[in-house]
Amino acid sequence: MRQPLVAGNWKMNGSKAEAAELIEGIKAGSGAVSMAEIVVCPPYILIPGVADSLAGSSVAWGGQNLSTEPKGAFTGEISAAMLLDFGCKYVIVGHSERRALYGETDELVAEKYAVALEAGLVPILCVGELLEERESGTTEAVVGRQLDAVVARVGIAGIARGVIAYEPVWAIGTGKTATPDQAQEVHAFIRERLAKADAGVAEGVRILYGGSVKGANAAELFSMADIDGGLIGGASLAAEEFLTICRAAN
Ligand code: PEP
Repeated sequence: MRQPLVAGNWKMNGSKAEAAELIEGIKAGSGAVSMAEIVVCPPYILIPGVADSLAGSSVAWGGQNLSTEPKGAFTGEISAAMLLDFGCKYVIVGHSERRALYGETDELVAEKYAVALEAGLVPILCVGELLEERESGTTEAVVGRQLDAVVARVGIAGIARGVIAYEPVWAIGTGKTATPDQAQEVHAFIRERLAKADAGVAEGVRILYGGSVKGANAAELFSMADIDGGLIGGASLAAEEFLTICRAAN
């Protein structure tokens, strides 16, 4: 039985005051979510405040990215140890925005995944195809390649210690959600591909769906056999909307 997980990716949004209000709202409603794990991933600078507010609650927090380096002259970067120092449990790696806007390659994403694991963080690995890749029928080739790069770096045992998020790029922030059947098809593909290396790992690893998930479509998506929760962008910035999604995963 895989524990459902809903993770909010705040991206580069929120002030101190907005974060405090959002976190209070999420905390207040989290009591009604006993089965699913709730995670928030604020921008780095808001993590200390969020960590103070969430300490002792059932809601976990994480980073949106990390450096592959442990310390030193890497201006603007944040290490795994720094995230751990502020109580982060999770870290997102390979988000499509990092891949597209900051040139993160499959190899770099795999290295970040490995560094996160070695430090004791749980990486949430994002994979997903572009619209043109879906339209040209290469979704499985793209997602398979992104996944294989990580398996090659950390082995199938490393996959068991992380979380995978299938996020079709054409559905992120566009309001265009994959249908439950479209999402399920790729989730099943991911599990089958992992099963070739280790059936137990494939069965146990959580695979989240991300891409314009809202309170109104979450229950239908989460009812699919291989969808174990969601990675939520825009809808994670409003407490009630995010909690509706969390309850749907519960
Ligand atoms: C995301 O950024 O991971 C995401 C899924 O965004 P949105 O929910 O806004 O589509």
